[in-house]
Amino acid sequence: MAGIYVHIPFCKSKCRYCDFASFPDKIGLAESYMACVYREMAMRAPELADYKFDTLYIGGGTPSVIDESYIAMLVAAAKKHYALSADAEITIEMNPGTVSASKIDMYKKVGINRFSVGLQSANDRLLADLGRVHTLNQFITCAKLLKGTNFSVDIMIGLKGQTTQDIAQAIEVAAMYGASHISMYALTPEDGTPVYTDYLNGELPDGDEVADQYEFGVKKLAQLGFARYEVSNFCKKGKESRHNLNYWRRGEYIGFGVSASSCINNVRFTNTFDLDEYFKCIISNHFAVIDRTEITEEERRDEYVMLALRTAAGVDLKEYEKLFGVRFEREYAAAIAKNAGFLDVSADRVAIKGEHLFVQNNIIIDFLKD
Ligand code: SF4
Repeated sequence: MAGIYVHIPFCKSKCRYCDFASFPDKIGLAESYMACVYREMAMRAPELADYKFDTLYIGGGTPSVIDESYIAMLVAAAKKHYALSADAEITIEMNPGTVSASKIDMYKKVGINRFSVGLQSANDRLLADLGRVHTLNQFITCAKLLKGTNFSVDIMIGLKGQTTQDIAQAIEVAAMYGASHISMYALTPEDGTPVYTDYLNGELPDGDEVADQYEFGVKKLAQLGFARYEVSNFCKKGKESRHNLNYWRRGEYIGFGVSASSCINNVRFTNTFDLDEYFKCIISNHFAVIDRTEITEEERRDEYVMLALRTAAGVDLKEYEKLFGVRFEREYAAAIAKNAGFLDVSADRVAIKGEHLFVQNNIIIDFLKD
């Protein structure tokens, strides 16, 4: 299985915590940018002619901020140039402040069958503090428009002044309006963002407080029927994100647009983060890749183990042996013994126990060879 990712780097305004490639002041370039993305897709197609793709993920930025006709042409370009399976999962990210009934109708018409909505919080004061452009009411309007579809909601923990009641409310609102999938992420104060100043000023909850918020959120999600399948991802039965599962299983993927990453045939490459450079490269019929790394066998194993241990299912022992020709239990006997209290070990899997998943980095480090 392989996936396609397309990055749309435009937003209405910049959130205070954001360090993604998104350019609110350049939205006027959307038409030219999309023309370049379609061209990049065509340029890359010959080398991927033998690939079958099961997912298309349109992320950003805020894909829903641009005219829906560009999205329709994007899906058409993906179908024209790549073997996208008939039942492919096609996801678009949406900001509730940028949606309309006509946009959602168009998305559905062109085959988009999964929606990922950034709610982040159900408290308007926290939303304003994060610099989000939407309110809770706009989320509710958006969710009503998505009624009956397969949609996911992003929420955040670790926010300044956030209470467990705020977290419960965000989860309850998402569930009540029909989300089939919820991603619950802890705010990461990235250097250079305004939120980083809050962090330096000691205004954000500390690690222990965030861990408590996470455990609270996990319980709330479980009560409402959302099972954890990855440290930050929860869903109703059968509603896992196929696109993300492919990443976590070290599947192959191709990315288009500014900052997009790809991993094909054990080579990872990343496009430029600079919009002008991206335009220049594509217009002159060159790829916009700034970084290309061949992944060694050892790195492959490290990645596989690290990603698998983030999931509730953990490492599939048979699959590991098939991929790497050695038995995981033997290869990692010392790390398994050292972390025995934190692991569920069965005849076919090794997984981090649910209650320790949030601090998985402390455990995973013992499994890395580098
Ligand atoms: S909507 Fe997302 S990509 Fe856009 S500024 Fe906010 S966090 Fe960044």
